[in-house]
Amino acid sequence: MLLKDKVCLITGAASARGIGKATAKLFAHHGGRVVILDLDAGQAEAAAADIGHGHLGLACNVTDKAACKAAADEVIARLGRIDVLINNAGITQPLKIMEIEAANYDAVTDVNLRGTLYMSQAVIPQMRAQQSGAIVCMSSVSAQRGGGIFGGPHYSAAKGGVLGLSKAMARELGPDGVRVNSVTPGLIQTDITGGKLTPELKVEIAKGIPLARLGVADDVANACLFLASDLSSYITGAVIDVNGGMLI
Ligand code: NAD
Repeated sequence: MLLKDKVCLITGAASARGIGKATAKLFAHHGGRVVILDLDAGQAEAAAADIGHGHLGLACNVTDKAACKAAADEVIARLGRIDVLINNAGITQPLKIMEIEAANYDAVTDVNLRGTLYMSQAVIPQMRAQQSGAIVCMSSVSAQRGGGIFGGPHYSAAKGGVLGLSKAMARELGPDGVRVNSVTPGLIQTDITGGKLTPELKVEIAKGIPLARLGVADDVANACLFLASDLSSYITGAVIDVNGGMLI
C-alpha cells in the first residue's frame, strides 16, 4: 500500500492499453484515490470505474489552462487534497523535419509540453499549501536519442522540453516539499505504437534492446509508482529510463 489514501491525478489515462491507465490501475491497487483526466468525460469515467470504487474520471484537455485549473479545483472540492500528479497525456506524429508545418508543431508541443506546464500550475498551489507533493512528467527516449521510431523531431523537441521543465520545477518547488521527476520510456506497446508494430518489426527492434523485448505499460507504471511514493522521498529532478537498456 505505497499510496494509501493519497489523491493521485493522472492525465491521459483513459486509453485502455495506455501507460496512464496501467498507472491508474497500479496506483489504485496501492491504495491511492485515483483521478483519471482525459479528453472525453465518458471515457474518463468509464476508466475510473474500471479500476475500482471511489475513483474519479473527469474531462480535462491539458492544453486548456482554465480546464486544468477547473479539474484541480473540482478534485480539491471533492477529495480535499492533491498528493500526486502524473503528467502523462501525450501525442506524437511520425513526420520528418521538412514535413513539419506550424499546425503539427503546435499540436505536439501543446499537448506534451504546454499541457505539462498547465496541469502542474493547476496543482502546485495545493501541493505548496500541503507542503508535500510528487509530480512525475512523461518524457521519452525520443528526447535523448534525437528521434524515436515513431515520433517526429517536434515530438523529440517537446519531450526534451519536458525534461527541462521538470528539472526547473524540481529546483523551484523543492523547498516547498514538492518533488518533480521524469520518466523516459523506450518503445512501449500501447495505442501510440501498437498499430504500427508488425511481428517482424518487433523482432528487429528487440535486437537493439539489451533486455531483448519491447516494453509494456506496466514497466512504466512501476517507475511512476516509485517516483510518486515515499520510496523516492530524497529524489527530485531525476530522470528514470524505462527502455530495456536501449541507450547503453
Ligand atoms: P496513448 O495514446 O495510449 O495515451 C495517450 C492518452 O492521452 C490518450 O488517452 C489520449 O486521449 C490522451 N490525450 C491526448 N491529448 C490529450 C489532451 N490534450 N488532454 C488530455 N488527454 C489527452 O499513449 P501512451 O503510449 O500510453 O503514451 C502515454 C505517454 O507516454 C505520452 O506522453 C507518450 O508521449 C509517452 N511515451 C510513450 C511511449 C510509447 O512507446 N508508447 C514512449 C515514450 C513516451
